[in-house]
Amino acid sequence: MEKPPHIAIVPSPGMGHLIPLVEFAKRLLTNHQITSTFIIPNDGTPLSKPFKDFLDSLPIGLNHLLLSPVNLEDLPIDALMETKITLMVTRSLPSLRETLEPLLVRTKTLALFVDLFGTDAFDVANELKIPPYVFFPSTAMALSLFLWLPELDRTVSCEFGELGEPVRIPGCVPVQGRDLLDPVQDRKNDAYKWVLHNAKRYRMAEGIVLNSFKELEGGAIEALLTEEAGKPRVYPIGPVIQTGSSDEVNGSECLRWLDDQPGGSVLFVSFGSGGTLSSDQLNELAMGLELSEQRFLWVVRSPNDQPNATYFDSHGHNDPLGFLPKGFLERTKGNGLVVPSWAPQAQILGHSSTGGFLTHCGWNSILETVVHGVPIIAWPLYAEQKMNAVSLTEGMRLALRPKVGENGIVGRVEIARVVKGLLEGEEGKEIRSRIRDMKDAAANVLSKDGCSTRTLDQLASKLKNKI
Ligand code: UDP
Repeated sequence: MEKPPHIAIVPSPGMGHLIPLVEFAKRLLTNHQITSTFIIPNDGTPLSKPFKDFLDSLPIGLNHLLLSPVNLEDLPIDALMETKITLMVTRSLPSLRETLEPLLVRTKTLALFVDLFGTDAFDVANELKIPPYVFFPSTAMALSLFLWLPELDRTVSCEFGELGEPVRIPGCVPVQGRDLLDPVQDRKNDAYKWVLHNAKRYRMAEGIVLNSFKELEGGAIEALLTEEAGKPRVYPIGPVIQTGSSDEVNGSECLRWLDDQPGGSVLFVSFGSGGTLSSDQLNELAMGLELSEQRFLWVVRSPNDQPNATYFDSHGHNDPLGFLPKGFLERTKGNGLVVPSWAPQAQILGHSSTGGFLTHCGWNSILETVVHGVPIIAWPLYAEQKMNAVSLTEGMRLALRPKVGENGIVGRVEIARVVKGLLEGEEGKEIRSRIRDMKDAAANVLSKDGCSTRTLDQLASKLKNKI
């Protein structure tokens, strides 16, 4: 009997990486009968609840298994996420090899996919003669930067944040060095070394799958599609977004509450799977929402001075509602709903009562809001989110962005101004109209003959023929 066509996927920890990879695998299964196995590196820390629930609910044809935990205890306490993720993969290579070998006997494994910081797994793929691919879960702009980083590293001697001129990434809006992704801000930090290490290895990939589409990031994608010696083919197949629920408990409460609100009236406020605010900023946001007198649905996390404090554990351990200003919940009861830690974002954005999204600008969140045509308030926190906020406001013009005060905090008056502006103002109307056009464009590229569907078909044929 012929062995089933199959791919192996090594995701990084974090829901923002897992969700689009799973959706990508679902499409390969539905459209091309290619099954997948998610092989998950870890350091022995128990998986967060959303991560585990998500893996447990994978459909037939998508399997997962955990690799033996690696030890990261030798890393300094302040090691950054990019360092931890890369080393988690690098130190998992022996167990990845052991896991892949029997899989290759049972299935016809067509490729090994890694995401952002997993390129060391290419060595095992090459050894086992499986073509290595990258699934890039962020913007075309960020991918261009990755491909261009080795050259930037060679030619720029100072910190990128100290450059007098904005950085011009091919096909993208110019961006200030200080707005480039976090781990390139300090070139002496190990995280920079690991990002550069991975970026150099992107060119070893057989292909790079990109979760974006031309109408959204025209210039950047055109530049990426230009053939160039040594650059792997890029496959823009987006927007690949979360389908189905990710939370049963908060889920039904949020959706029932939304059912009772007027159409397009509610601002959804959420900072992704791991974003956190400082205590002062949390307080100011609460007061700003109250001052705006607009309806809101807010996913609150306990405050932390590190903006990605709950990246590996979205549920945190304290009761976040206890950190809200005194009397806030009572005063806003008619207008707002506050839920702790996690909510079914994709369904909330798809609900007709949702009229705006205050987001940390994670790429999945942006794609989800584009697909549902919900206008944006850009509030970047970490990783590549500042770059995303620049393209959202200056390139795509789909978002308003509140100004940060001199004390580093966005004040309540500014928050209220932007929230009102988005839900009631003229600028909100213009953004709403542009994002509706983008919603149509997204539906179009995903239709049967749409560009992203055809690109996925081409990728599947290439995988099946191993050309
Ligand atoms: N998400 C969710 N509920 C939450 C927070 C996040 O379902 O309360 C999902 C969200 O829909 C998106 C992903 O988690 O699919 C977050 O990815 P994104 O790239 O926006 O940000 P990250 O978490 O990687 O910073």
